[in-house]
Amino acid sequence: MIKLLPTSTAGSLPKPSWLAEPETLWSPWKMEGEALMEARQDALRVSLLEQHNAGIDIVSDGEQTRQHFVTTFIEHLAGVDFERRETVTIRNRYRASVPTVIGAVARETPVFVDDARFLRTQTDAPIKWALPGPMTMIDTLHDTHYRSREKLAWEFAAILNAEAKELVRAGVDIIQFDEPAFNVFFDEVNDWGIAALERATEGLECRTAVHICYGYGIKANTDWKKTLGDEWRQYERIFPALQASSIDLVSLECQNSHVPMELIELLRGKKVMVGAIDVASNRVETPEEVAATLRKALNYVDADDLYPCTNCGMAPLSRTVARGKLAALAAGAAIVRRDLTGL
Ligand SMILES: [Zn+2]
Repeated sequence: MIKLLPTSTAGSLPKPSWLAEPETLWSPWKMEGEALMEARQDALRVSLLEQHNAGIDIVSDGEQTRQHFVTTFIEHLAGVDFERRETVTIRNRYRASVPTVIGAVARETPVFVDDARFLRTQTDAPIKWALPGPMTMIDTLHDTHYRSREKLAWEFAAILNAEAKELVRAGVDIIQFDEPAFNVFFDEVNDWGIAALERATEGLECRTAVHICYGYGIKANTDWKKTLGDEWRQYERIFPALQASSIDLVSLECQNSHVPMELIELLRGKKVMVGAIDVASNRVETPEEVAATLRKALNYVDADDLYPCTNCGMAPLSRTVARGKLAALAAGAAIVRRDLTGL
């Protein structure tokens, strides 16, 4: 279905300034009601056009209709009280005020299905749709009901599975679960995290992906990265179990990262979305720099399994920088594709 080295993004792209405050996470909408619905659809159209113009092969909604990659999904669920907030430490890294689980969690209506259906009407390109992963969801909540991270994760996995099945029916080709928490809670990942993720993908008639990164380019994350030393070997703790899992694609941070590229070897047989664009810097990579990262990855992943991608979402960047980075990604992949095929 797809050409060699198909490009895509991890998910989010900057929102237009008429929709929300630019270069800000959790940015409030600038309108409401009908006007907001219409504006979000327009932003989705623009985001898609920019991906097409840059030459991105597998497109996304750019997460234009959500305020945050985890919270927006949780807002649609019963059992979570957004008025009752507690301050917790997210991913052992930063303190944040989060809502409380006060009863059985349930998805009463579809969350993104209308958006996916709309995107499908706008493009013939393969669509990848991102959802939060179960472990990352529980890590951004205070729970007074289940009182067990594992139990709550299994509940979320079933809810995500129901949403994902409807997204596939709406025309989505790849469902991606964002699990930055996999880079932090290694024991839980191996005990039940990957099993919960597989539960979320059960019976899906599409490709499935998991995105595991070191976070958006915000200060809390860049400060944390400074504490990780010269070599980041976190992936090593979870790759063997991921390799044995039923997940098809693994999305990783590789550009300007201290992750030793040879760790990818542990995933041999999986498709690997190699992050070749740094989202924590405003400097736009040259196509040659992107190509160099991809060539390095090719030592450890078969060409048929290499999916050039961004390290993480680009929501906090300016639109100009993000546009430049999309074009660099496509141009860098084209260089390596020419090397491999002569085309
Ligand atoms: Zn990420």
